[in-house]
Formats: sequence, C-alpha cells, structure tokens
Amino acid sequence: MTTRAIAIVGGGISGLSAAWELQKRDVPWVLLEAGPRVGGVIRTEEKDGFLLEGGPDSILAQKPEGVALCRELGLGDRLIPTNPELKAVYILREGRLHALPEGMMLAVPTKALPFLRSGLFSWPGKLRMGLDLVRPGLQENGDESIATFLRRRFGQEAVERLGEPLLAGIHAGDPERLSILATFPRFRELEAKHGSLVRGMWAAPRPRPKPGARPRAAFYSLRGGLRELVDALVKRLPPGSIRTGARVRSVAREADGYAIGLEGGESVQASGVIVAAPGPRIAPALEGLLPDVSRSLAAIPFASSATVLLGYRREDVTHPLDGYGMVIPRTEGLRTTALSFVSTKFAHRAPEGHVLLRGFLGGVRDGGVLDLSDEEMVETVRREMTPVLGLKSEPVLARIFRWPGGTPQLEVGHLERMRDVERAVGEVPGLHLTGAGVWSTGIPDSVADATRVAAAAGERIR
Ligand SMILES: Cc1cc2nc3c(=O)[nH]c(=O)nc-3n(C[C@H](O)[C@H](O)[C@H](O)COP(=O)(O)OP(=O)(O)OC[C@H]3O[C@@H](n4cnc5c(N)ncnc54)[C@H](O)[C@@H]3O)c2cc1C
Repeated sequence: MTTRAIAIVGGGISGLSAAWELQKRDVPWVLLEAGPRVGGVIRTEEKDGFLLEGGPDSILAQKPEGVALCRELGLGDRLIPTNPELKAVYILREGRLHALPEGMMLAVPTKALPFLRSGLFSWPGKLRMGLDLVRPGLQENGDESIATFLRRRFGQEAVERLGEPLLAGIHAGDPERLSILATFPRFRELEAKHGSLVRGMWAAPRPRPKPGARPRAAFYSLRGGLRELVDALVKRLPPGSIRTGARVRSVAREADGYAIGLEGGESVQASGVIVAAPGPRIAPALEGLLPDVSRSLAAIPFASSATVLLGYRREDVTHPLDGYGMVIPRTEGLRTTALSFVSTKFAHRAPEGHVLLRGFLGGVRDGGVLDLSDEEMVETVRREMTPVLGLKSEPVLARIFRWPGGTPQLEVGHLERMRDVERAVGEVPGLHLTGAGVWSTGIPDSVADATRVAAAAGERIR
C-alpha cells in the first residue's frame, strides 16, 4: 500500500496537466494510467522520414493555454505555425473542391465579394445567409443544436455545407445533436450582443501584429509532433509518480481520504482524487461512491473514428495540395469525412519529394467504421480521394490509428447535465472531475480545465 496526497486517474493531456500544476504547488500526487503509455489520444510516430500524428495534430492559438504550456515547458522554439502562405480549406461539393471564401471565420462570411463569388453556395443560399444581417437575434439563452442555430441564422444550405462537415466535423459529431453552447458558445455570444453573427465578427477586435512581426498563426504544432509536449511533461515530473498499467476499478471513501482499487487487486490510498479519464470508461469505478454521477458520466456519448495516414511521392498526386485540406459533407455519400494535406499544413512532416495526407473515417455518421480492416480503411480513403486529388499510384506509406470511443459528443443540454454532476461531486470533499467530455474537448480547454481543477485540489490540501 502506498500513501499519497492526490491520485490522478488518467494520463492523457488532462491528467498530465493536473500533475504539472500539483507539482508546481509542491503537492504530492500519483498518476494512475490504465494503458502502457501516457499521452492518451496524443500519439506521434516516425516512419521512413514521415512524421505521423495519429490523434491531435494542432493546437488552437486563440485559446492560449495549450501554446502557453508548451512555452512554459521550454518548448517555445519547437513551436511551428501552420503554413502562412497556403491556407485554403476546401469543401467537397458534387465531387469538386471549393475553397472556403476568403474572410470566412469558421461558418461566418465576413467579406462580401469573395463570399458572393464563391461557387460553394447557391444564390438562394447566399441570400438566405445574408438575412443574418437583418434577422433579430434570439432573446432567450437556452441550449440548441449547432444545426438549429445555423438554420436560424443562415438557412439549411449553411447547415449542409458548413455546419455538418466543418463545425460538427471537428467533433466527429452530428450537427442536429451537438450543443451550440458547449461547442461554439462564441457564436451565441455574438448573436446576443450584436443581433447578427456577421456584424458580430465585423465588430470583433482583430489582433494586430507588431510592425515587422509575422502575423500569428491560428494553429501551432511542435516540430517533432505533439508527442514532444507529453515527453516534456514527463521529463519535468518526478520519475516514479507516474504509474502505467494501473487501471482504476473503484474509488471508495475512507475515514481520512480515498482507497482506489486497481485492476489486479492493489489499493492506493490518497487524500484526494482527480478523475481525468473519459466518463464512460471511469463511470463503473464511481458507481459505489456516486451512483447518479456515474450514470451521467456513462451516458456521455463518445464517437469512434480512425485516422488514415498516406504518404505519396509528390509526382503521384496531381492536385497542388495548396491548403490545409478538405472537409466532406455527408451529402457527398463518401465514408471519408475529411482529409488534411499534412505536409502543406505543417513543415517537417514528409521527406523531400513526398507529401503526407491524413484521412478521417468514422464519427457518429459511420458507427461501424472500426469493423473495417486496416487494408479496407486504406483502400476506402485511396479510392474515394483518387478522383478528387488525382492520385496516380499506391501510397509509399500507410498507417492507421484507431480511436474507439475517442471523441466526446457534447450534446444539447450537456452543460446543464455537467453542472448537476459538478454539484454532486462538489459535495464529496477531495473529489474532482476533469478531462475530455466534462467541460472540455481539445487540448487548450483540457489543459485549462485540468489546471483549474488541480489548483482547487491543491488549495484544499493546504
Ligand atoms: C483523432 C483525434 C484528433 C484530434 N485532433 C485534435 C486537434 O488537432 N487539436 C486539439 O486541440 N484536439 C484534438 N483532439 C482532441 C484532443 O486530443 C482531446 O480533447 C484531448 O487530448 C483529451 O485529453 P484527455 O486527457 O482529457 O483524454 P485522453 O487523451 O482520452 O486520456 C484519458 C486517459 O485516461 C486513461 N484511462 C481511461 N480509463 C482509465 C481507468 N479506469 N484508469 C486509469 N486510466 C484510465 C486512458 O487510457 C487515457 O490515457 C483530437 C482527438 C482525436 C481522437
């Protein structure tokens, strides 16, 4: 039996960020990770000169906590921005690629001429989107789906061509189910404040780079991939405090703290617990302690997906790959939901004379995707992308990463349900909850929430 101050359950970026915060506060902790390695869905590999990101590949700069953590860990000079020259994002429509018009901020057009010239939308569709400028904003603040919200502001065409592939696509989700308040709260804030998304975007302050300085990129990665972030955290944390192969099976209260039961029968004593593992996976361990919370966590849907990395000789891809990649609306009838032009998006991703593509399969629109074999996944992406990109041969490299239940679906009403969960957890002294699918999805939000929770846990110990 080991006695420790705080046990952290789960060793993804959330659990590691919590450990880092406790470490800085001199609060002892032990991290219990079920798998053989930490990092969770962050997974980088190298093969034949290609740098392969199996899970996340970029950190959003607008939410500062992800990039700030990299800098704090001494990785400032390893940060690399997305390509500042070739920034196109394409949408596939009727088999043809249409670049998102210049000035498009996610789903909101902010520049009239490029929007009007774009072949992505029909004329009635453009007119309907323009009504956003004059239609009054919603006066209540209840939740609604991404689709309902976009349909209200911009009409059905915007739901099909932007909302589904782009906004819901980021979450591998269904726009009719995902909560606008949990996924894109800023849109509702803009509507409430300005009565219109377009006018809200016009009014939003733009960060102005200092004279002579390069404009800030929207996304960053690390030269050697996001594994560098995980490695840097592990290097700065005391060896021996991170335990892999430690699957938590039960969390029970004791007179002066907690007994955490591991698979295999061992019990770890702790004065507090930070749960940083995905809800459905940790729910059974909380059943005895907080049955209602356990049920709510078990009910958070998580979508399964796979990433398909394909390396090609440059001359075997006809398309110029002059952008970050494409998203593919469900109406196209393909299984590939999106495809990144990885070696255009970031430098140092493919050897000289080669390019790297990354296709996405699965998500809620294709629940059975993980039944496909690796070969079938490669063949699906290759076959579907051949006419779109003019692929002339077999890839020289193919690697699949599978993510069963990897992406939380923050559905309508999610925030309210989590507020109930947090209230119940708050009544159990020393128990804390963070991690993907509670308040956050994405690296910056995960870092921010885990840091907040660990700071509160550390304060309590003091
Ligand atoms: C394919 C893909 C692409 C993505 N792309 C991006 C992107 O480009 N940018 C971005 O910001 N975000 C992206 N995300 C989202 C982002 O990666 C996640 O939101 C974030 O990494 C989640 O971190 P986490 O620590 O909360 O969860 P996880 O990474 O899921 O880690 C949870 C950990 O808990 C462990 N665990 C589970 N059960 C137990 C148990 N009973 N006992 C002990 N340990 C347990 C698991 O083994 C795992 O290691 C992507 C996600 C996926 C799947």
